[in-house]
Amino acid sequence: MIDVGASVQAIDTPALVVDLDAMERNIARMAAFAAAHGVHWRPHAKMHKSAALALQMMAAGAVGVCVQKTAEAEAMLAGGVGNIYISNEVVSLSKLQRVAQMAAALKAKNTSDRLAIAVDSAEGVQRLAEAIGRVAGDTRDVIDVFVEIDVGQGRCGVAPGPAAVALARQVAQHPQLRFKGLQAYHGGAQHRRRHAERQQAIAEVLRQVQATRALIEAAGLKVELVTGAGTGTMALEAASGVYGELQSGSFLFMDADYAANEADPARPAFEHALFVKTQVVSTSAAHAVCDAGHKSHAIDSGLPRVFRPDGGPALAYFNGGDEHGILRTAEPGQPLPALGDVLWLIPGHCDPTVNLHDHMVGVRGGLSAGRVERLLRVDARGALT
Ligand code: PLP
Ligand code: MN
Repeated sequence: MIDVGASVQAIDTPALVVDLDAMERNIARMAAFAAAHGVHWRPHAKMHKSAALALQMMAAGAVGVCVQKTAEAEAMLAGGVGNIYISNEVVSLSKLQRVAQMAAALKAKNTSDRLAIAVDSAEGVQRLAEAIGRVAGDTRDVIDVFVEIDVGQGRCGVAPGPAAVALARQVAQHPQLRFKGLQAYHGGAQHRRRHAERQQAIAEVLRQVQATRALIEAAGLKVELVTGAGTGTMALEAASGVYGELQSGSFLFMDADYAANEADPARPAFEHALFVKTQVVSTSAAHAVCDAGHKSHAIDSGLPRVFRPDGGPALAYFNGGDEHGILRTAEPGQPLPALGDVLWLIPGHCDPTVNLHDHMVGVRGGLSAGRVERLLRVDARGALT
């Protein structure tokens, strides 16, 4: 393991490296953006999986974290994060037991810290209520509950409209559960390349959310909060007057796939802050080979882009399997990197890349001349349950 204070050159490869200066500029941009729009931000920790980064963003104004998994919530709680929203459905009795224990522990602190969760079925609400009841008896408002509606992704979520009203009513009947509002996240819209396509998708989302909210309120229940949005569409939700909370996660590190989106002029331009440091271990007349394959970075959203802070000729990365990357010059006739040269990769998709590593190496002062300032443990690595 690299020591804090070491130079960037001393980081062995392959390694996941965070450019702390770029990351902190992204945090500052997000904080300023949310403040300007009067919305809360609750960044998704499924992306960075680090309690230290969650706390750093909360110190900068985030209201808490989103997680996707019960085990991620446990990792955040163990790391000192007290305001956690599981933006996903949990139905197994063993997981719900763990959810109930966390919710009861946070409630017992008597602070504003809370656990929240999403539901999308009557059976799910019933199971949640029973689990909370077993742990917390008839204590009121132990967990905040959001009804998830499917706003176009075709994944989780009850249909917008009357089905959502029925679920909200059911939640409100259980004194241990507090109906808080709507979860409305359109994952499918985030990576649509053209801004106009994302605009169109979110306009439809807003219609569905507004109609559902109106029906729930007509039934006598208050929709305190609508939560959702990712890095691709967040400026649209933020400006809507409908969403009170943004769940974007990838803005912190910005992967190559998000960078391929046509920019939304209303959204801050986030910088790449997550890199795989890699070294050339073999060369031939036609290509160079580096030591980072898809055990170092996820390739579900495409292969990584090569970043050269040294200003060397542009390189294209080709799949060399799980331990290798094959590099060719983007323009014919340009020199290939030499054996031992260091290169930097911008992963195609940051979330599953982080999950491949035990640590991220936080560097201050740039990728050429910087120093290691901190090691960030990937606390929720492999936290899938
Ligand atoms: N909210 C939910 C429910 C998600 O599933 C995700 C990511 O998949 C996000 C928010 C964050 O999106 P992004 O990392 O693209 O900003
Ligand atoms: Mn993602």
